[in-house]
Amino acid sequence: ELGFFDGEFIDLNEKKISLEDRGYQFGDGIYEATKVYNGKCFALDRHLDRCIRSLRELKIPVTYTNAELTAIHEDIIKKSGITDGCIYFQITRTTAPRTHYFPDKIVPHLSMTIREGSVHTDWQKSGVHAIFTEDIRWLRCDIKTINLLGNVLAKQEAHEKNCQEAVQVRKGSNLVTEGSSSNFFVVKDDIVWTHPLSNLILKGVTRSILFEECAKKLGITMIEKAFSPDFALTAHEAFITSTSLEVTPVIAIDNKHIGNGLPGKITLKLLNAYHELVKKECY
Ligand code: PLP
Repeated sequence: ELGFFDGEFIDLNEKKISLEDRGYQFGDGIYEATKVYNGKCFALDRHLDRCIRSLRELKIPVTYTNAELTAIHEDIIKKSGITDGCIYFQITRTTAPRTHYFPDKIVPHLSMTIREGSVHTDWQKSGVHAIFTEDIRWLRCDIKTINLLGNVLAKQEAHEKNCQEAVQVRKGSNLVTEGSSSNFFVVKDDIVWTHPLSNLILKGVTRSILFEECAKKLGITMIEKAFSPDFALTAHEAFITSTSLEVTPVIAIDNKHIGNGLPGKITLKLLNAYHELVKKECY
């Protein structure tokens, strides 16, 4: 475990963050989480592009170039000696006496941590259980902000019900958006469905890779169209995607089996294609 704060490497427990950091007081910042395979950060460019977009949407000055952020990622991997793990970084707007509007002088803070750990391959093999829960989040879920209370409460509810993910549903439309820390997909009659890109979901890097690379290569049809919880329950397969879980089958929601209650064929094909891509890029 190793940390980085505003230009230097630190011990994770070293106290560096000001009590008046706006990230700390308002959740005023953005983050990214990437996966390290074989000492290399997978799909880092996509994560950095999303990071810059999140900053711009929140009007946080962009004070790092993609090249600088890449170099810091490479440095922290090298210094930690970790070959398989996760890197988390966040950029908060600034430190300033507490007022809601932006202060005049803004110096964003970058902090980063790296942790050892590999993918939940057991979940990929067995599949996971999920629940449906109301999506109570704000209306800019496309920005990867460190404000995650809606997601945290959803995941906690799943955890208390011995499930691994909460699939969120917007009240009113009764449409499924995404997981609490993943994008959500169903497969029906060999067609993969997921919520279209909008302010209601995060544009997951893994989701994009499935669309642009894996499904294309396999000749699998993927459509971006929202669906109801009832539609999901009549699907033949379901799965979630995220950087840390890659492609993980969902075998039941609210204790109701999806399809035959086993990881689906198309899901596993997509997972396999994803692994091939990781192999090509990192090994
Ligand atoms: N949706 C939400 C709400 C998330 O928090 C995440 C990942 O943390 C994702 C989707 C998946 O994004 P990615 O594939 O870029 O990890």
